[in-house]
Amino acid sequence: MRLSEKQQIFTRNIAKLINKATELEIGLTFGHAWRSLEEQKRLKAEGKSQTLKSKHLDRLAVDFNFFINGKLVYDFHKIKVLGDYWENLHPDNVWGGDFNKNDKKDGFVDTPHFQMS
Ligand SMILES: [Zn+2]
Repeated sequence: MRLSEKQQIFTRNIAKLINKATELEIGLTFGHAWRSLEEQKRLKAEGKSQTLKSKHLDRLAVDFNFFINGKLVYDFHKIKVLGDYWENLHPDNVWGGDFNKNDKKDGFVDTPHFQMS
Protein backbone atom coordinates (compact mmCIF):
# COMPACT_ATOMS: atom_id res chain seq x y z
CA MET A 1 0.00 0.00 0.00
CA ARG A 2 1.29 3.47 -0.86
CA LEU A 3 1.97 5.81 2.06
CA SER A 4 -0.60 8.26 0.71
CA GLU A 5 -3.33 5.58 0.75
CA LYS A 6 -2.44 4.66 4.31
CA GLN A 7 -2.50 8.33 5.37
CA GLN A 8 -5.99 8.67 3.91
CA ILE A 9 -7.27 5.59 5.78
CA PHE A 10 -5.71 7.00 8.95
CA THR A 11 -7.37 10.39 8.45
CA ARG A 12 -10.79 8.81 7.81
CA ASN A 13 -10.42 6.76 11.00
CA ILE A 14 -9.47 9.89 12.97
CA ALA A 15 -12.79 11.38 11.79
CA LYS A 16 -14.57 8.33 13.26
CA LEU A 17 -12.60 8.71 16.49
CA ILE A 18 -13.64 12.36 16.79
CA ASN A 19 -17.30 11.39 16.27
CA LYS A 20 -16.98 8.64 18.90
CA ALA A 21 -15.53 11.14 21.40
CA THR A 22 -18.46 13.48 20.73
CA GLU A 23 -20.89 10.61 21.34
CA LEU A 24 -19.12 9.89 24.67
CA GLU A 25 -19.20 13.61 25.57
CA ILE A 26 -15.41 13.81 25.56
CA GLY A 27 -14.36 17.15 24.04
CA LEU A 28 -11.23 17.14 21.89
CA THR A 29 -8.69 19.69 20.71
CA PHE A 30 -5.69 18.93 18.51
CA GLY A 31 -2.15 18.66 19.76
CA HIS A 32 0.57 17.59 17.32
CA ALA A 33 -0.39 16.02 14.01
CA TRP A 34 2.45 16.26 11.45
CA ARG A 35 5.86 16.96 12.93
CA SER A 36 9.22 17.78 11.29
CA LEU A 37 12.35 15.71 11.98
CA GLU A 38 13.93 18.76 13.64
CA GLU A 39 10.99 19.03 16.02
CA GLN A 40 11.13 15.28 16.70
CA LYS A 41 14.86 15.51 17.54
CA ARG A 42 14.11 18.29 20.02
CA LEU A 43 11.28 16.33 21.69
CA LYS A 44 13.49 13.25 22.03
CA ALA A 45 16.30 15.34 23.54
CA GLU A 46 13.77 16.72 26.06
CA GLY A 47 12.56 13.20 26.93
CA LYS A 48 9.06 13.96 25.61
CA SER A 49 9.38 11.27 22.95
CA GLN A 50 11.13 7.91 22.91
CA THR A 51 11.95 7.69 19.21
CA LEU A 52 13.19 9.48 16.11
CA LYS A 53 10.94 7.24 14.00
CA SER A 54 7.68 8.75 15.22
CA LYS A 55 4.58 8.15 13.11
CA HIS A 56 4.01 11.92 13.35
CA LEU A 57 6.78 12.28 10.73
CA ASP A 58 4.71 10.13 8.33
CA ARG A 59 1.36 11.89 8.96
CA LEU A 60 0.16 8.71 10.65
CA ALA A 61 -0.25 10.02 14.21
CA VAL A 62 -2.28 12.67 16.02
CA ASP A 63 -2.22 13.83 19.64
CA PHE A 64 -5.39 15.09 21.31
CA ASN A 65 -6.26 17.03 24.44
CA PHE A 66 -9.36 15.68 26.21
CA PHE A 67 -12.06 17.61 28.04
CA ILE A 68 -14.59 15.92 30.33
CA ASN A 69 -17.17 18.16 32.02
CA GLY A 70 -15.09 21.12 30.89
CA LYS A 71 -11.92 19.87 32.60
CA LEU A 72 -8.69 18.98 30.79
CA VAL A 73 -8.05 15.27 31.41
CA TYR A 74 -5.25 12.87 30.38
CA ASP A 75 -6.17 10.06 32.78
CA PHE A 76 -5.52 6.64 31.23
CA HIS A 77 -8.69 5.07 32.67
CA LYS A 78 -10.96 7.87 31.46
CA ILE A 79 -9.52 7.82 27.92
CA LYS A 80 -9.16 4.03 27.56
CA VAL A 81 -12.65 3.76 26.03
CA LEU A 82 -11.38 5.88 23.10
CA GLY A 83 -8.14 3.90 22.92
CA ASP A 84 -10.08 0.64 22.70
CA TYR A 85 -12.37 2.10 20.03
CA TRP A 86 -9.33 3.27 18.03
CA GLU A 87 -7.60 -0.11 18.17
CA ASN A 88 -10.79 -1.84 16.98
CA LEU A 89 -11.11 0.43 13.91
CA HIS A 90 -8.09 -1.05 12.10
CA PRO A 91 -5.59 -3.85 12.88
CA ASP A 92 -2.65 -1.42 12.46
CA ASN A 93 -4.05 1.17 14.88
CA VAL A 94 -2.18 1.72 18.14
CA TRP A 95 -3.15 3.94 21.05
CA GLY A 96 -0.25 5.54 22.95
CA GLY A 97 -1.93 4.63 26.23
CA ASP A 98 -1.13 1.02 25.30
CA PHE A 99 2.55 1.52 24.47
CA ASN A 100 3.41 -0.75 27.40
CA LYS A 101 1.73 -3.65 25.65
CA ASN A 102 3.72 -5.93 23.34
CA ASP A 103 6.55 -6.34 25.86
CA LYS A 104 7.46 -2.65 25.82
CA LYS A 105 7.70 -2.24 29.58
CA ASP A 106 9.53 1.08 29.68
CA GLY A 107 6.80 2.86 31.63
CA PHE A 108 6.10 5.30 28.82
CA VAL A 109 2.37 5.98 28.53
CA ASP A 110 1.28 8.49 25.88
CA THR A 111 -2.47 8.82 26.43
CA PRO A 112 -3.00 11.67 23.88
CA HIS A 113 -1.37 9.74 21.01
CA PHE A 114 -3.27 7.80 18.31
CA GLN A 115 -1.31 6.24 15.45
CA MET A 116 -1.45 3.81 12.56
CA SER A 117 1.66 1.60 12.44
ZN1 LIG B 1 2.02 11.65 19.52
